[in-house]
Amino acid sequence: MAYKTVIGLEIHVELMTDTKIFCSCPNEFGGEANTHCCPVCLGLPGALPVLNKAVLEYAIKAGIAFNSKIANITKMDRKHYFYPDLVKGYQISQDDVPLCSGGYVEIELEEGTKKIGLTRIHIEEDTGKSIHTEEGDSLLDYNRAGVPLIEIVTEPDMNTPEEARLFLEKLKSTLKYIEVSDCKMEEGSLRCDININVVDTETGKKTNITELKNLNSFSGAVKAMEYEEKRHISLLKEGENTERETRRWDEVKNETIIMREKGEVADYRYAVETDILPIEIKDEWIEELKNSLPELPHAKKQRFIKEYDIPEYDAGVLTQSKELADFYEETVKYIDDPKQVSNWIMGDVLRRINDEELEIEDLKFKPKDLAKLLELINEGKISNNIGKKVLRTMFETGDSPEKIVKEKGLIQISDEDELEKIVEKVLSENEQSIIDYKNGKDRALGYLVGQVMKVTKGKANPQMANQIIRDMIEEQ
Ligand SMILES: [Zn+2]
Repeated sequence: MAYKTVIGLEIHVELMTDTKIFCSCPNEFGGEANTHCCPVCLGLPGALPVLNKAVLEYAIKAGIAFNSKIANITKMDRKHYFYPDLVKGYQISQDDVPLCSGGYVEIELEEGTKKIGLTRIHIEEDTGKSIHTEEGDSLLDYNRAGVPLIEIVTEPDMNTPEEARLFLEKLKSTLKYIEVSDCKMEEGSLRCDININVVDTETGKKTNITELKNLNSFSGAVKAMEYEEKRHISLLKEGENTERETRRWDEVKNETIIMREKGEVADYRYAVETDILPIEIKDEWIEELKNSLPELPHAKKQRFIKEYDIPEYDAGVLTQSKELADFYEETVKYIDDPKQVSNWIMGDVLRRINDEELEIEDLKFKPKDLAKLLELINEGKISNNIGKKVLRTMFETGDSPEKIVKEKGLIQISDEDELEKIVEKVLSENEQSIIDYKNGKDRALGYLVGQVMKVTKGKANPQMANQIIRDMIEEQ
């Protein structure tokens, strides 16, 4: 039997404008509870909202980056529901005329590029936060009330958890590129809800959609989707169905847990927000914003392939984030070997960054230092392997490669007399290998070079050692 998984996402992203969406309170994460508040964001009677133009600007930039159609006329609406973190009893959002419609995000799969369609992007205000204490009290912090959000809704175009992960990575990197959000999932500036179900492609039977909420990392989201995929398929196999419900991911139990059953579709009694006039967006402004956008990931990738003559794969990895791409370009400025720089960044640098869950911005060394390290290797002052060791120290101390090489005495031995002495000693202790080599066993040569490297703690120039060993054996 064949099954198809269907995944759609709803992503809320906080915009990093200086002030909130309808008042001039600071838009900052954290702060002492209820200190970033005024009558507008507290929803006090008579307080009137004024739309922050920067919110429109940021949201339109996101729409342009994701190939959406920007509305020339739009409006704000009231979405009514009751919850203690929503003081007004309604959230100011957008209902039937969203700021941006349609659009897509491209993800790279092994079989090629796939377009994930977007339904819409609209602007709205964030709510306050409820904090439940161990003593059983519920506290309310309205610092977040009125923080500007965009809600991005996708079409159900993703068919594996991996596709959803790639989509989220691309969405995040693009929003960071255009500097509209920092997309920190752990601080809640990017929040993702997932709708998932499974179709039996032979019978056409499908499970009810499960909504996954409260996910606080991409890896948690992927695990939750994988878990749900299996759960839906096993129910289908038994001829059963899933309940329409909302579940969350439990990181300790490694399973999804039911939060609530979904009853009827909620009626939010949407109504036009009459305190805010309809919004007119002129084509000239959209054009102006389009021209102000920096180079987007896809365009940067194409440029890297052309300008640096590196493989498509390398260009894709290096343009994952603006910071990484900048680091690469800065390094190449100092050392004119784009492929070598790419190999080192994609290899030892990114491996360590991923292992330690660092960001490229956290590195203690600068692009100039990495370039210097590669220069030392290319000049034959240190070997490739020693270079890797030096890089490890650079990660820890941030010291310059010259300093590390000098302090640790790592300069490569390229002095012929010195190397000859070492080789002589190694040969005298490995007579069997000499015989093997003379009998045509090439591996014996490798072993002898290895012994020279061992004696010199990796400092011998390997090419020179190789040549000297061959010369000496032939002279014997
Ligand atoms: Zn305020």
